[in-house]
Amino acid sequence: MKKFVCTVCGYIHVGDNPPEVCPLCNVGPEYFKEVEEDNNEEVSNNILDKVQYKRFIVDNKEKENDVVTSFYLKPVTKEKLVSHKPGQFISIKPIKEEEKSEEVRQYSLSMKPGEDFYRISVKKEDKGLISSYLHDKVNVGEEVYITDPLGTFVLKDSNKPLVFISAGIGITPVMSMLYEALDKNRKVIFVQVVQNSKLQTFKKEIKNLSNENNNLKTVIFYGDPLESDKLGVDYDISGRITQQWIKDNLPKNGDFYFCGPLGFMKLIYDSLKSMDIEEESINYEMFGPSANLANI
Ligand SMILES: Cc1cc2nc3c(=O)[nH]c(=O)nc-3n(C[C@H](O)[C@H](O)[C@H](O)COP(=O)(O)OP(=O)(O)OC[C@H]3O[C@@H](n4cnc5c(N)ncnc54)[C@H](O)[C@@H]3O)c2cc1C
Repeated sequence: MKKFVCTVCGYIHVGDNPPEVCPLCNVGPEYFKEVEEDNNEEVSNNILDKVQYKRFIVDNKEKENDVVTSFYLKPVTKEKLVSHKPGQFISIKPIKEEEKSEEVRQYSLSMKPGEDFYRISVKKEDKGLISSYLHDKVNVGEEVYITDPLGTFVLKDSNKPLVFISAGIGITPVMSMLYEALDKNRKVIFVQVVQNSKLQTFKKEIKNLSNENNNLKTVIFYGDPLESDKLGVDYDISGRITQQWIKDNLPKNGDFYFCGPLGFMKLIYDSLKSMDIEEESINYEMFGPSANLANI
């Protein structure tokens, strides 16, 4: 058995050949390098250091709500920003040697395409190593290492109505896709599932887009609305999204893109399959090791 390291995210694969697709960041076998058994971790760390990472500075840091903070990143050098396809992510690792500098995580780019910065929006996980580090220690003016945009969860060309469905922090890739879809004048249904207004990431941004675009219909679910949350103003539906609601309200001829916790994604996937929606119209991203929802 050989050992291969993904030069993008650091995932280690054991086998005779590199995997077809990295289960963590979705890049192909060409991004894998073999690690010699008698060379230890240093080899993979050297590979990670050399190949893909660029120094970026935190140009702005904005609290979206109690758990999510957005970081606006610009290249340290004057080189032009590599443009992203909405839905893509970057891999990030801390720059300070003493601070977990070999830990790598992925964050989706959440901004409109064509900006002169990248925006990532990070949920602080309880006891989460890198999300806590970013929230608590990385301030405006500090640097991080990041890759160019990566990933295959991107909008396909089509004239079908688009449906975006997100739960929690799964909003980030679809937020960027929403901008692209509206730019292309596509008809969009945008479904966001969250607990309440305190935890609704991009609340104002989505409201503004909805006011400015007749071809955008938003549906906001609050699982646990606050007393001050107003039905019809802050949110549209109280409770969880269900298979019945999906069946009754979403178009059978749509292209679907969704992201969120695993249980939520499985519910969406099974609901779409029960409506006989074809696999090619069902697109999703996992915020962990990727898996095929058909087999879960
Ligand atoms: C393609 C892709 C895109 C992504 N995009 C985003 C994004 O846009 N925004 C975002 O916020 N995240 C995103 N993620 C998830 C992100 O990469 C990280 O996985 C996430 O931030 C958690 O990393 P962490 O280092 O904070 O947590 P880790 O340290 O890796 O911990 C992982 C989980 O284990 C739990 N845990 C860790 N240690 C303990 C312990 N001792 N006891 C109990 N529980 C523990 C943590 O609470 C956490 O939930 C994305 C992931 C992928 C693969």
